[in-house]
Amino acid sequence: MQYLEILRKGAIALSKKNSSHLGDRGEYIGASELGLCPARVILGKVYGSNDSEDTLDSANLKNLGHIQEDYLEARLLSQGFKDIEREYEIQLDHHGVQIQLHLDFVWRTPKVVLVIESKNMRTIPSEPWDSQVIQMNAQVCALKLELEAKGDNRQVLGIIHASARATGEETVFPAPGEFYHPDFAAFRFYLDKAVETWDLIEAMRNGASPRLPIEPGPLCNWCSHIAMCPRFQRAHEVPEMIELVRQFNEAKAVQKEAKQREEDFKAQMLAIVSQVPKGWVKVEDEVFVKSITRTQTRLNTDKVKDYLRAQGEALVNFQNVTSSVGVSVVKNEPREKAKAKARAKAKKGEQPPAKADEATDDAKAA
Ligand code: SF4
Repeated sequence: MQYLEILRKGAIALSKKNSSHLGDRGEYIGASELGLCPARVILGKVYGSNDSEDTLDSANLKNLGHIQEDYLEARLLSQGFKDIEREYEIQLDHHGVQIQLHLDFVWRTPKVVLVIESKNMRTIPSEPWDSQVIQMNAQVCALKLELEAKGDNRQVLGIIHASARATGEETVFPAPGEFYHPDFAAFRFYLDKAVETWDLIEAMRNGASPRLPIEPGPLCNWCSHIAMCPRFQRAHEVPEMIELVRQFNEAKAVQKEAKQREEDFKAQMLAIVSQVPKGWVKVEDEVFVKSITRTQTRLNTDKVKDYLRAQGEALVNFQNVTSSVGVSVVKNEPREKAKAKARAKAKKGEQPPAKADEATDDAKAA
């Protein structure tokens, strides 16, 4: 077996092991799904995710999120923070619908219980996504209710710890020194919405074809159910573009491979030049290879935010939102194939796999 194939299998096995505590996601609504588009949640539960379960990218992203949590825990423990519980689970029954919450970290102090939700993102946004805030609120509300039921009146607060894969930066939301507090009205709203969503899931599992509520947004770009989404059923059909799309995909694959080869060549050259005293070598008369050190200066946005807060200002007041138009090619499993797969699984007495239907970037299981 080839080296890369061994690694791919290892990544997928690890990803399955890391998410085993989530159980059968087809049987409940997870906290991370409360704020998602209902159609996306329904299609994911009924037909399973259309994302290939065997893609290296998807497994790597999930594993990196897990490693990030290990790292966060190690840092907290190294500073004497004890009584931190990891992957704390809360199960709720709301009008017969199972809601499960998996809290990354719960840190209990004599007066306050803090929930920490770790998000591993490509880059850090200026504000967390709405679905992340809804998930966070569900976590602090559910934990507060659980404590109160045991006669424990400690305050429950929450923070989202966001780490950027691309830059190594990190920050906390809502802001350093600030916390999410339970908002029970919002919590009840999303629990009721989960019941409506679940009713539609059951109706579809029983063979009905109900109208699916959609909430289009930026996450549509990463949605794996576009082929079945009601919104995209109204798409103009332009079959003449098929050759253009094929060539585009081919060009992207070539570019990716070329980039990888470039990086490999650079690594080989660096391995050689870093062995010589001056860090550069002559290859032929006018060709030299030298090692270089690049320095980057980055704005510390946390410090800027702190400074602005002290002035009664917020970073968002100094930010301009710009947008550009581009294209994204999304390939879904054909609708009939997904339905046939779901039917075959139902026949065998299993529910289709309903794995986290996340913008693989970051959203994480409950
Ligand atoms: S494409 Fe957008 S609107 Fe359609 S199901 Fe996915 S998230 Fe919802």
